[in-house]
Amino acid sequence: MKILIIAEHKNGLLSEATQELFGLPLGQAEVHAVVAGESVEPLAGPLGQLGAAKVHLIESPALASGTGESLGQALGQFIPQLAPDVVLAAHSAQGKDLAPRLAAALDAALATDCIQVSCDGDQVTARRPVYAGKATAEVEFTDDGLKVISVRPRTVKPPESDAARSASDASVAVEFPAQKTALKKIIAGGNERPDVTEASIIVTGGRSLGSAENFSVIENFADSIGAAVGSSRAAVDAGYRPYRDQVGQTGKVVSPQVYIACGVSGAIQHLAGMRTSKHIVAINTDPDAPIFQLADYGIVGDLFEVVPLLAEAAKNRSGS
Ligand SMILES: Cc1cc2nc3c(=O)[nH]c(=O)nc-3n(C[C@H](O)[C@H](O)[C@H](O)COP(=O)(O)OP(=O)(O)OC[C@H]3O[C@@H](n4cnc5c(N)ncnc54)[C@H](O)[C@@H]3O)c2cc1C
Repeated sequence: MKILIIAEHKNGLLSEATQELFGLPLGQAEVHAVVAGESVEPLAGPLGQLGAAKVHLIESPALASGTGESLGQALGQFIPQLAPDVVLAAHSAQGKDLAPRLAAALDAALATDCIQVSCDGDQVTARRPVYAGKATAEVEFTDDGLKVISVRPRTVKPPESDAARSASDASVAVEFPAQKTALKKIIAGGNERPDVTEASIIVTGGRSLGSAENFSVIENFADSIGAAVGSSRAAVDAGYRPYRDQVGQTGKVVSPQVYIACGVSGAIQHLAGMRTSKHIVAINTDPDAPIFQLADYGIVGDLFEVVPLLAEAAKNRSGS
């Protein structure tokens, strides 16, 4: 079986979610990686150390903008040349755009937002959450054609890089027909904390914070442990936090190592965005709040008393 991993990168580094794809149980598959961008040759080494046998480099100024359209055009030409059985992408912002685009263009089977993928001989199976995470569907592919699979970030541990491993690399030439979209400008969000989709720890606040100013309690704690700040939809709707922080069915789906929910009731739509977190901590005044049913650790108490104590303890521990 031949597997192609689409490598995402930013500022000359592979994304964490791309590295995780190499940690999937891919059996004896022949693993290729493709990396597209302006000057991406230096990424061939790290991809080889992660386990790629061959790295395909698509270099063009047309890829500098990183739009889904140009990347889709490039990969849409390259993938039929390589003829892999499976294409794997991270279910990141880029992967969410790219995977359906490629599946449609290449008439491939598609499974998105998977939390498990395994290859056994020629058989590929994937598992993906459905019904807001209440159930998991097992997807089996019923024909031999190309399969495009996107994998939710932070569901698999990336393998250790092995300096003894290396990949051969080859340049791929593609053409770029006239584009229908152009990236004009990136307006930075002005957020110095990690994004909720990338952070390994998230501290989330809910409606109970009562105001945007009161979120400083959550921010102080998050900063003391290097965490991202998340929000329930109720807090976003009330104007306490920007939408980019919203976790849940209509917000972002996250799978951090630690998720700390402060004054969040645990509505099903919120749980849909964070139930795959590795460890869940809940702080709530109501001992019957639904969030406690999912939490690994629970503190029944007022977040305005508990959270500052946790922040202080974290600062004392780190000596700052
Ligand atoms: C179609 C649809 C999509 C939705 N999508 C999302 C989504 O993506 N994300 C999302 O979050 N929600 C979503 N919702 C909304 C969801 O149903 C809930 O209304 C929302 O999650 C509630 O937010 P909350 O927990 O902050 O507020 P509440 O439900 O009001 O809960 C506040 C909690 O804080 C506790 N509390 C109060 N004071 C304190 C205190 N001082 N200290 C500690 N605890 C305290 C209370 O006991 C309570 O449990 C969606 C709803 C619909 C219908």
